[in-house]
Amino acid sequence: MKKSIILFPVVVLFLLLTSLTNKKHDEGMFPLSDLKNLDLQKLGLKISPQELYNPNGTSLIDAIVRVGGCTGSFVSADGLIVTNHHCAFGFAAAASTTANNYAKHGFLANKPAEEIPAKGLVCKITVGYADVSSRVLQGTTQITDPIMRLRKIGENIRYITRQENEANPDVQSEISEMFTGRTYVLFRYKLLKDVRLVYVPARSIGEYGGELDNWVWPRHSGDFAFLRAYVGKNGEAAEYSPENVPYKPARFLKVNPKGVNENDFVFILGYPGRTFRHQPAAFYKYHEQYMLKYISDIFDWQIHKMEELGAGNDSLQLRYASKIKSLANTTKNYKGKLQGFRRAGIVKQKEAEEAELTRFIMATEENRNKYGNLISRVNEIYADVIKFAPKNLWFSQIYQVSPTIGIASTIAILQDQYNQLKTKEEKAAFVEQNKQKLQAAYARFCNSADPEFEMAAWRKMIDDATVFNADNKIKWIDQLKLQSKNNIEGYYLLLTKKSKLTRYKETEELLKTNPAKVLERKDVLIDLVKELNKEALAEEELRGKRDSELNLLMAKYVDARSEWRKTQFIPDANGTLRFTYGFVKGYSPNDAEYHQPFTTLRGVIEKEDGKEYELLQAIKDLYAARDFGPFMHPQLNDLPVNILYNLDTTGGNSGSPVMNDKGELIAINFDRAYTATINDYAWNESYSRSVAVDIRYVLWVLQKVAKANYLMEEMGVKG
Ligand code: ASP
Repeated sequence: MKKSIILFPVVVLFLLLTSLTNKKHDEGMFPLSDLKNLDLQKLGLKISPQELYNPNGTSLIDAIVRVGGCTGSFVSADGLIVTNHHCAFGFAAAASTTANNYAKHGFLANKPAEEIPAKGLVCKITVGYADVSSRVLQGTTQITDPIMRLRKIGENIRYITRQENEANPDVQSEISEMFTGRTYVLFRYKLLKDVRLVYVPARSIGEYGGELDNWVWPRHSGDFAFLRAYVGKNGEAAEYSPENVPYKPARFLKVNPKGVNENDFVFILGYPGRTFRHQPAAFYKYHEQYMLKYISDIFDWQIHKMEELGAGNDSLQLRYASKIKSLANTTKNYKGKLQGFRRAGIVKQKEAEEAELTRFIMATEENRNKYGNLISRVNEIYADVIKFAPKNLWFSQIYQVSPTIGIASTIAILQDQYNQLKTKEEKAAFVEQNKQKLQAAYARFCNSADPEFEMAAWRKMIDDATVFNADNKIKWIDQLKLQSKNNIEGYYLLLTKKSKLTRYKETEELLKTNPAKVLERKDVLIDLVKELNKEALAEEELRGKRDSELNLLMAKYVDARSEWRKTQFIPDANGTLRFTYGFVKGYSPNDAEYHQPFTTLRGVIEKEDGKEYELLQAIKDLYAARDFGPFMHPQLNDLPVNILYNLDTTGGNSGSPVMNDKGELIAINFDRAYTATINDYAWNESYSRSVAVDIRYVLWVLQKVAKANYLMEEMGVKG
């Protein structure tokens, strides 16, 4: 008897705990149109769904802003935006000088007059949307040639967009394909063209842990930054002008300095970039066995080569730094994806699912009539994709791996177009139209040109292509080997010596004063690359043919799957506004490992090594004094730094606000755990975890490290 009395509360406690920790939910980056199908309050939302999205009034949606390729949110009535450090970093770097190195030491405007333009950054706010599928697909059903059909879709899209933009010049209309070949939505965006830097923390805060910690949990990064959007005095979007005034958003987020706790409901509104969840099995096979593998290998090769050449050479190291960073970001992500493919057995799983789908199709005459040869035709096309993968992947990289081939190709293409023009006027207009693009491409080339690296890269790419089978032979390689007598390095030197492209000063000057001359010059390298381009173009045409047919087939594929599953799917991420929800939760990424969902300042301090983990003295002092202000996490007895949650996010969600059940800002999303890189193909509660910087760390850095109390006041937060 006694026993059961003791047991009762234990059992209740256990049940309570399991119900708290087992809060389950499904994947989903929900577009606004799908929100009505979710029982958000049952899921944990404490505000009315209208507060989230209200087409007839203001809602949280009005506080979400697309910041270039990232996301951000308004946090004050005066256009203050919070996003990620890594989203603002490039603009701080561009505004840096040797005397004012904002990239390294950070930037703080102590008052609005001190803010500096984030040159080239355009922000967007979604102000409306409409399904335009029937208009986009109008006149396509009777077209049997897939290329012509896709062309017609393109024409329709351009026509509708032009009409919309003429009718509503104050917003920008864009049509996004939600389901391949099937569903199209027109989004209306308000553009903000004058965006300024307000606070970008020092790199040692914003990028703490650098590449070592990228795509990793536990994480200790202060990956946040503040910007401000300005508009003209009339409230309309305007280019930068000192006369402009802060933008008054229709809504801004309330910042909750108390943050969240483990198991709390959280959600994100943001602009996820790209996912691939509705593809046929063969697509996943191609990605796992060919694309991801090839790209990560060739990126690794470049990183190693640059590290090898840069060893002991500071100026080379500096020159390679940003290239290595961007290659490393992708290759680590791709390796994470490959691990995910293997561990989850995604290809096998998709093949099994497709076998069932085939059985469903073949079971009735009606289905056979509609979808009879759908799967077999998709497989035939992918058989070709795979058959020609080696050369297609090689073509996809050669122009980047060798900046010399890249610039020669850009000029070769423009030169061909230029030579086809008849009149002087047409030629002059063409030059004017392409001048900036050409100057920018040449400037990039000058920055990255490095003969030692290129010689090695030419050798590597040529050796790789030499062993391709007969289906993948690249004739250009044979010619090159013949012409160079297989002394590729010597031939590269000879060509670059003869070429005018490597007369840097002269070409740069010409591009400024008389760019037409650059297009008229005869050049050995350009001529050589023209031959390569011919083969690349022929492959591109074949790819275009395959893609056009797939566009049509994929529309049917989604229809068939949705009839079979008796459900409507959520469209893949495509850079449009999405909602995702879940819980603050730890996880077990590997055998015998459990990771808690919060990291703390203690972890920041412990990691310090003065190299990859470099720390400001101010942070060490504050930690030593345990000066956490009001931002301490009571249970952790420390300052929370980063948090982990099981939401469905991807690239582009960087800078997205993480909100609590009341729609208050409690963190800024910036990354995913290594095991969640596979999200792009398949989300799963057990391995999908995203990472954010806790608002308490943001506020603590603002108050204690940057001493930017005025920003806290602006956000209505008491320090
Ligand atoms: N780091 C990514 C971004 O920049 C976020 C992610 O991929 O999860 O958007």
